[in-house]
Amino acid sequence: MRYLSTRGQAPVSAAQAILNGLSPDGGLYVPESIPAAPAEWLDPACACTYQELAAQVLSLYFPELGKDALKTMCQEAYASFAAPEVTPVTRLDDDTWLLELYHGPTLAFKDVALQLLPRLIVRAARLTGEKRTIHILTATSGDTGKAALEGFRDVEGTACTVFYPKDGVSELQYRQMATSQGKNVQVVAVRGNFDDAQTGVKRLFSDPGFRAELDREGRLPSSANSINIGRLIPQIVYYFFGYRALRQAEQLQAGETMDVCVPTGNFGDILAAWYAKRMGLPIGKLICASNRNRVLTDFFETGVYSTDRPFHKTISPSMDILISSNLERLLFELCGRDAETVRGWMASLKENGRFVLPEELLKKLQAEFAAGTADDGQTREAIRLTYERCHALTDPHTAVGLSVLEGLRRGTADRRVTLVNATASPYKFVSDVSEALGLTAAGRVFDDARALAAATGTALPNQISALETMEIRHKAVSDPAQMGDAVMAFVRKES
Ligand SMILES: *Cc1c(COP(=O)(O)O)cnc(C)c1O
Repeated sequence: MRYLSTRGQAPVSAAQAILNGLSPDGGLYVPESIPAAPAEWLDPACACTYQELAAQVLSLYFPELGKDALKTMCQEAYASFAAPEVTPVTRLDDDTWLLELYHGPTLAFKDVALQLLPRLIVRAARLTGEKRTIHILTATSGDTGKAALEGFRDVEGTACTVFYPKDGVSELQYRQMATSQGKNVQVVAVRGNFDDAQTGVKRLFSDPGFRAELDREGRLPSSANSINIGRLIPQIVYYFFGYRALRQAEQLQAGETMDVCVPTGNFGDILAAWYAKRMGLPIGKLICASNRNRVLTDFFETGVYSTDRPFHKTISPSMDILISSNLERLLFELCGRDAETVRGWMASLKENGRFVLPEELLKKLQAEFAAGTADDGQTREAIRLTYERCHALTDPHTAVGLSVLEGLRRGTADRRVTLVNATASPYKFVSDVSEALGLTAAGRVFDDARALAAATGTALPNQISALETMEIRHKAVSDPAQMGDAVMAFVRKES
């Protein structure tokens, strides 16, 4: 299977696509063809585990990595998940089910892909003859950083540096990152906001001097963010797994479709659902749920994608995003894989902050996708109502999805079985969840977490309680201009 760039450059092998992350022409890699799912994946009698299903999905997209190697990788990657099913499906009511994606080591859905990606990268490096250590450089606004640190921790042949904005992450997110273990990981606070950290990382990637210095130390810089095809493909698995669980629970007849509702930021998670549908999974509507940063809702309603708007900080910070990178992959497929058209849209986005979809393509899009928005007030309301009606605790990102779903259902008799992605543990956002439930916050995050557990009779995850006494191991602080020096100092100390 070869991988095409959405901007037209010659295709590369799967291994090369995984190692490159982004295509050198600035495009994203997409598989040359979309494989069909074998019928047994939809069969409720099929007994294969999540890990086995994952290995089968990955073998279709990355056959050159080798079936047995992929099997081993999937077993190892998901051994760290607290739920034996990896992504359990739980009932809210007969028509509304949660696909719980947050049982990994860092309590957010990013673990599903980031526990696997380091293994894919190491394998890809072996196949392409790459001898250098792959050094991941990532800027984070919170969730991705910790998931990358856990994924790459002590993985032979890799190292990982995470930059976060010094005063821009929550206390729990700070503690999660600053207590990280593993001899190949580095965490650096950047004086500035997320954009400063992100711009700093992009500068390092395009700085020949820095790249040469790293090369002299036997290292190749790479990226773990969600444009890497090695992060997208593992996310296809749980939609098949979720569908089979609904068939096993006798909520769906053979061949009957389910809708999926996905709290969306960079458009990776929902795009994986679109791939699953193309592979043959019976999905009806793909519901794209946004917070107050409703750039995607407007796009699906009007065909105009415009970043010329204020940026809002919300209680669902992992969805505070105005440029949803993975949308480019969908656009490429939508226009019949015409790279020139995609280049035009992306150039327009860069130069004018907007692009406009022709009417007939908008119609095609609207036939498959529905979209909606929930502001912080509606999000809190959804957290409260879900708890009151179903006794289920949901985090603010998941609650955006539930609120949008309820809004779309209102006024219609159409209640189709819908799988809603639960993307983070409510304990990761304990202050906002407590507030939504009307619990008074003590102000100390660990006290609040214990109070939430006591008030709701839910279990406080170990990963949260353990943070209270874990040693702060990473104290480095850097100016945006000195980020490269920080990396090199770590590299020289390590080697
Ligand atoms: C990253 C993230 C999202 C958004 O997922 P995308 O693939 O970027 O659309 C939603 N919820 C949580 C908790 C996340 O960490």
